[in-house]
Amino acid sequence: MIVTSAILTDIEGTTSAISFVKDVLFPYADERLDAYVAAHRHDPIVVKALSEAVVEIGEGAIGDAAILAHLHAWIREDRKSTPLKTLQGLIWHVGYENGELLGHVYPDVPPVLRAWNDAGIELYVYSSGSIVAQKVLFAHTFAGDLRPLFTDHFDTTTGPKREAASYAEILAATGFHSSEMLFLSDTEEELDAARAAGLLTARLLRPADTPPGATSAHPSYVDFAALSADVAAA
Ligand SMILES: [Mg+2]
Repeated sequence: MIVTSAILTDIEGTTSAISFVKDVLFPYADERLDAYVAAHRHDPIVVKALSEAVVEIGEGAIGDAAILAHLHAWIREDRKSTPLKTLQGLIWHVGYENGELLGHVYPDVPPVLRAWNDAGIELYVYSSGSIVAQKVLFAHTFAGDLRPLFTDHFDTTTGPKREAASYAEILAATGFHSSEMLFLSDTEEELDAARAAGLLTARLLRPADTPPGATSAHPSYVDFAALSADVAAA
């Protein structure tokens, strides 16, 4: 039995299918990026994202067309770029609002999140998708708006998911002792980093998102229903 006061969850491969991000969200943003930037070029958040992208490109002052070419390449390589994630989040927000996108969560997830919430376990998200993208995904699911279940969200602005220091930052921000927080992910290196920071860990080995024969040094579960049978509120 895993006894915990707080749960920090990954999204891709954990609450939601990896294929939703790769096959639905990424192409959606890729197809709409140029038009979105053209229409919102003077919005402060777009100005900031583009100037951050220029720094990341590292070639000095370049035009919008060159910046966009880099951003499209980064989408194809799934680069963990904060300005790219910001722009993708803004574009997805439009798609969710107009009903073109529905945020994917596995059917086992909403009832278990609600049960944990009812039991007094505080829920947090830590994903490489931007906080904006996380919130719009959970706002528009088949089970309705799941945002009220979460106390707070973290993304790569807190730090990389494979570094223990990022989990220490999240503990400091939330006020929990390391042994009071359980981290959920489908990625072994993220779980190793969380464990190095002292957190409890559990790996999701969802059949649709897991290579055949994958094993883990962390307690492992095929879905949230199996996991919830093993989790109790402190
Ligand atoms: Mg993941």
